[in-house]
Amino acid sequence: MWKDLDISVVRCDSEKRKDKPDQKNLGFGKFFTDHMFLMKWDRENGWHNAEICPYQNFSMDPAAMVYHYGQAIFEGLKAYKGENDQIYMFRPEDNLERMNSSALRMCMPRIPVDKVLKGIKALVYLDRDWIPSGDGATLYLRPTMVAVEPALGVRPSSQYYFFVIMSPVGAYYAEGFNPTKIWVTDKYVRAVKGGVGHVKTAGNYAASIMAAEEAHRAGYTQVLWLDACERKYIEEVGTSNIFFKIGEDLITPPLNGSILGGITRDSVIQLARSWGVNVIEKQITIDEVLAAIEDGSLKEAFGSGTAAVIAPIGELCYQEKKHVVADGKTGELSQRLFDELQAIQNGRQDDPFKWIV
Ligand code: PMP
Repeated sequence: MWKDLDISVVRCDSEKRKDKPDQKNLGFGKFFTDHMFLMKWDRENGWHNAEICPYQNFSMDPAAMVYHYGQAIFEGLKAYKGENDQIYMFRPEDNLERMNSSALRMCMPRIPVDKVLKGIKALVYLDRDWIPSGDGATLYLRPTMVAVEPALGVRPSSQYYFFVIMSPVGAYYAEGFNPTKIWVTDKYVRAVKGGVGHVKTAGNYAASIMAAEEAHRAGYTQVLWLDACERKYIEEVGTSNIFFKIGEDLITPPLNGSILGGITRDSVIQLARSWGVNVIEKQITIDEVLAAIEDGSLKEAFGSGTAAVIAPIGELCYQEKKHVVADGKTGELSQRLFDELQAIQNGRQDDPFKWIV
């Protein structure tokens, strides 16, 4: 039901345009550009009223179902300004396809990937002056879908909004590419098999906040999540996938239903394999990782995700005991993956996998 979805464009009045923030103070998700993409869905019309319009508030009924039952899904991807002011996006179709997997699991309507990508390209182009250049700063895009039917009762909503907002974000590693300290929790879990951990729905993030707060209070950056059943298999780290280089193998947990299939994870696997690295997707326990730290076979550990690309791990704290990983230094493979992925994303490098749009 989206064959005739034309996208209209309403530009923000020039006097209403916001001042651009100083590139030094960007941080993450604090500032938003002048325009957004918005379209609406209902049972009768499917997706309709697609528009690029001035960034604006919504007026929503307090009974809108998203406020009560949490039918909300989202994505995160970036636009980069490379040399000659060329604008790049990294695997955006994959984000939109993942959004459709999330939609399916949450009984929400699928989005038309081609049309939405066209809308996103036009939106990024319209607000291109907001894309920071240099120093790893980027424009972060947040496609989101929420249930807006005003009704109580747990069932799929019959009306939805889909929108894309954009935020200029600062370089993740403003203070250098430094290994992070990770808090392994066996008290809280992120996701269960049969649940929704493999999709990007808002409730997963709400449920993770308490563990993250405890980790921060203890002086740690992120939480390492174990499986919900036995609390021994490693799943993810914060909002990133996780990799361990043990001996000559690069190991990452398999996508078994409770882990989000990261686009960076997939890119790391493809890139490392193309370099001849033996990448293995297999279950690995926290005890195996600690034993590998102990006997010196664990060479590197890192998280992978859109925000940081690669986040080296320098310390794990498990059951109140600290374990230093790889002398707390950034490993060679982590650095190479970071450099190569960032070069591809900024258009500085050949793109053998055709990831760039
Ligand atoms: N796991 C979770 C729970 C996440 O929120 C994210 C960020 N989207 C990732 C992993 C990494 O995914 P990606 O590489 O697509 O950013």
